[in-house]
Amino acid sequence: MFVRSNQFLGGRWVPAAGDGVLDVVSPTTEEVVGRVPVATQGEVDEAVAAARAAFDSGPWPRLSLDERAQVLRRFVECLDAKRARAIDLQILEMGATRTFNTVTMASVRPFLEAAIADAGRINVRDVRDGAVGKVLVLREPVGVTAAVTPWNAPVMVVLSKVLPSLLMGCPIVVKPAPESPLSCYVLAEAAIEAGLPPGVLSIVNGGVEVGAYLVGHPDVDLVTFTGSVGGGKAIAETCARLLRPVTLELGGKSAALVAEGVDMRPYLQSLVDSSLRNSGQMCISTNRVLVHTSQRDELVAQLIEYVSTLKVGHPDDADTYFGPLCSQRQRDIVESFISAGVEDGAKLVHGGGRPEGLDRGWFVEPTIFVDVRNDMRIAQEEIFGPVLSVISYTDDDEAIAIANDSRFGLGGTVFAPTTEHAIALASRIVTGTCAVNGGPPSGGGGPFGGRKESGLGRERSVEGLEFFLATKSVALPAGYEPTEAVSA
Ligand code: NAD
Repeated sequence: MFVRSNQFLGGRWVPAAGDGVLDVVSPTTEEVVGRVPVATQGEVDEAVAAARAAFDSGPWPRLSLDERAQVLRRFVECLDAKRARAIDLQILEMGATRTFNTVTMASVRPFLEAAIADAGRINVRDVRDGAVGKVLVLREPVGVTAAVTPWNAPVMVVLSKVLPSLLMGCPIVVKPAPESPLSCYVLAEAAIEAGLPPGVLSIVNGGVEVGAYLVGHPDVDLVTFTGSVGGGKAIAETCARLLRPVTLELGGKSAALVAEGVDMRPYLQSLVDSSLRNSGQMCISTNRVLVHTSQRDELVAQLIEYVSTLKVGHPDDADTYFGPLCSQRQRDIVESFISAGVEDGAKLVHGGGRPEGLDRGWFVEPTIFVDVRNDMRIAQEEIFGPVLSVISYTDDDEAIAIANDSRFGLGGTVFAPTTEHAIALASRIVTGTCAVNGGPPSGGGGPFGGRKESGLGRERSVEGLEFFLATKSVALPAGYEPTEAVSA
């Protein structure tokens, strides 16, 4: 059992002030496997005050990009040395498979290096011609960041906030999901070992209440949220009232568009990974599979055959593809969607129940529906489980109309006989990212984010980093020629 009675506030371990605890239940054994304290408002105040001090008078925002990059490289190295423990804890707390966690942890270092390279492309000091004389345009760190994150890839989602925010000079206070707070203790240990300056990183545990208090805290300057549409809207309302910049990475109901005439055999793994990895608990899951009527039966047979080869089992086993769902509540939601699919007239052709031989744990069989209409609940709502809906179309225009008939717009993937045709189709889908012919998910390292109810703003790449910068124009007197020290 992983038990902690301290929290990571302002860069050091502080004994818990309150009595509240979060019990973490293993999705595999249904047993309590961890217990951590819930932050009190006083502890959130302490974390934010430490971040405020680090921003207002500490060295962090005043270091050069290179200096901050070096510290963050050290942080990631220290975390890398603890990678095995971070993976084990994520398996324990949310049931994601060893393979999935291994892949996400391996992406941390490249993620940081890409962010450092992108940050180097942003001009933070630029002399331009203004209305009368010249203008010095500065891009400065905004201030203290509050981050609130979900459970579906605990460490990577937290780092997707922490690394960019710190790299751009903004101290950050993170509130991880109550389902998965354990692995964040490894992050904190790595931060201490790497010698992150006081105040720049804090992690406060808790649920909605702690998140809401943090997001609305008077000393927070900007907010970054990943989670459900409902949570995002509540946070957006707070930020609107406070005129506080916010990015929202929310849910999705993305399409996998299989264009007429494409041979899907080489792409089956890509299609299934893009929709069902992490037991479908991915915001970018492309679980609406749109296929030309003429190819539907063939694709469905291929999908059933392929999915049948993938093991459902203990997430710790190296060959497991489908682990349990993260919580009993999540399994209830997924099962109620499966029932809704049947009620609404879709045809269940694979799975739909609980796997045999797995009596403990919140497992659901990988499930495939055909004869799905896009107005059915299973095609409109985010299920966040291992459920594929196959929808037929008769021409490209209809396929695009179906893809876009959604209140979401987050991910997508297109398979077509030529990559040019796939790009042409992708460009017609209203979404934030779209892979073509087996390209990587989540924007492949480009800007990532959603349209419509999938969110606001972008993470990653230059656009994501710019969120942490405020623009200031310093108007220079007419006739003044900036010295090199001013413009460099
Ligand atoms: P959730 O919204 O219930 O919770 C996410 C986090 O927000 C948790 O830490 C929770 O405690 C906190 N929270 C919720 N409501 C809040 C509020 N009103 N004020 C402050 N904090 C609040 O989501 P979840 O069930 O943990 O995660 C699943 C959802 O996250 C899915 O909808 C999924 O699509 C989405 N998600 C999106 C992305 C993305 O990048 N777009 C990535 C991963 C997950």
